[in-house]
Amino acid sequence: KVRVRFAPSPTGPLHIGGVRTALYNYLFAKKHNGDFILRIEDTDQNRFVEGAEDYIIESLNWCRIPFDEGPGKEGKYGPYRQSDRANLYRKYADELIASGNAYYAFDTAEALDDHRRDHEEKGKTFIYNWHNRLKLENSLALSKEKTDKKLQANEPYVIRFKSPEGETLQLQDEIRGEMEIDTNILDDKVLFKSDGMPTYHLANIVDDHLMEITHVIRGEEWLPSLALHVLLYKAFNWQIPKFAHLPLILKPQGKGKLSKRDGDKMGFPVFPLEWKDPKTGEISVGYREENYLPEAVVNMLSFLGWNPGTEQEFFNLEELVAAFELERVHKSGAKFDPEKTKWFQQHYFQLQRDETLAAHFMTILAEKGVRTDVDYTTRIVSLLKERAVFVDDLWDLGSYFFKAPESFEEKAAKKVWKEDTGEIIDELIEKVSETEPYTTENLQEEIKGWITANNIGFGKVMQPLRLSLVGAMQGPDVFEIAVLIGKLETVRRLEFAKN
Ligand code: GLU
Repeated sequence: KVRVRFAPSPTGPLHIGGVRTALYNYLFAKKHNGDFILRIEDTDQNRFVEGAEDYIIESLNWCRIPFDEGPGKEGKYGPYRQSDRANLYRKYADELIASGNAYYAFDTAEALDDHRRDHEEKGKTFIYNWHNRLKLENSLALSKEKTDKKLQANEPYVIRFKSPEGETLQLQDEIRGEMEIDTNILDDKVLFKSDGMPTYHLANIVDDHLMEITHVIRGEEWLPSLALHVLLYKAFNWQIPKFAHLPLILKPQGKGKLSKRDGDKMGFPVFPLEWKDPKTGEISVGYREENYLPEAVVNMLSFLGWNPGTEQEFFNLEELVAAFELERVHKSGAKFDPEKTKWFQQHYFQLQRDETLAAHFMTILAEKGVRTDVDYTTRIVSLLKERAVFVDDLWDLGSYFFKAPESFEEKAAKKVWKEDTGEIIDELIEKVSETEPYTTENLQEEIKGWITANNIGFGKVMQPLRLSLVGAMQGPDVFEIAVLIGKLETVRRLEFAKN
């Protein structure tokens, strides 16, 4: 059975690149009737950030990318938070020591810094591996006696992987194909730290094994770790999962990786949800709070590094599951395009039911201190929706449905307001008052009849009428507006405009 995992470290808000990784994992799992697992990789206590785990889960929920197992959704492979599994890793490090694939290293941070500096001065780079390891403070270089003594004396140590010397390693990636790597360039990565916690590398491999992960789908930034991971599987004699490294997400200009800072600089979100940094209090904008629909964000993300090979661009989650194939994921970086996201937003916004939009719009209205009812709001929504992309556009397009204009667009007023406009407004007030029942058809008939009978210029009446009701020369059919806001309000606005 296919089992994949999304394994974020809770070191801050999930960037849209992370959401894309989760999405592709989810799509792949569901396409193959498999399981999608969320695993929180929080063994690095120094980088732990308060609230980040909740943020990750809330983001997945908002995007409607449900996980089958994970924190709060225990399955038989749990727990799913590495800090809750902390006791389980040591024995695997010991196993590697016993099999000669790992060793104790006692070098202090200062000693390592010195080595680095020495090398740099000679124009070389210090790598802790076959090349240097026998000159350093570790159990491969020291006698068994000395090593035991240090261990007995509780000298701090780390456990390092012993990367093989002089081998050519074949690597296979589902997206990139075959790669070869010379093991001499690898360093002896730390697997277990002096604080008693495993590093990412060890915990990640152990958990992928124990959780029976079949496919590791993750960002390209992990490609350099692939060799070590494959070597670890080999050292443990475990079955190696298939790997797929997803392309980078690039800045809109295409130069360089999209960074967390780009959002603020360019004025578009790079996070699914708003995030408030617990230390600095700094706020980063999120798609949800900018009123994007999750469907639009998911559709946009699906195309950041994949395409269906057809002309179709709109896909809901189910359709994505059906269409998604790892083979169609690109190798090269995907340019982030905020305008395209808006375009998706426009599409999904139009598909929303009027009632749903009205409910959302009413929360915005409430914030503005406007009291209104569902029916009225729903009618306004259906009238304005076509021209809106975001729910808050409805306010910009139709605030006058809820609040009488307090001023009139200056340019328009200059053009529209003539000497005899006052008299026309008086007539209009009369016509409006006489219309019974007050329907769009009746009002239209009344006013147009009067215009034709008296041979008044059409614009001379209609323009001041619109300006009085809307405050500007925009909006849908003016008779419709007049009827929606009601007879009393229409008269009130005409009276106000006259003065
Ligand atoms: N914890 C790693 C991260 O934060 C997981 C990488 C992987 O998927 O192996 O991205």
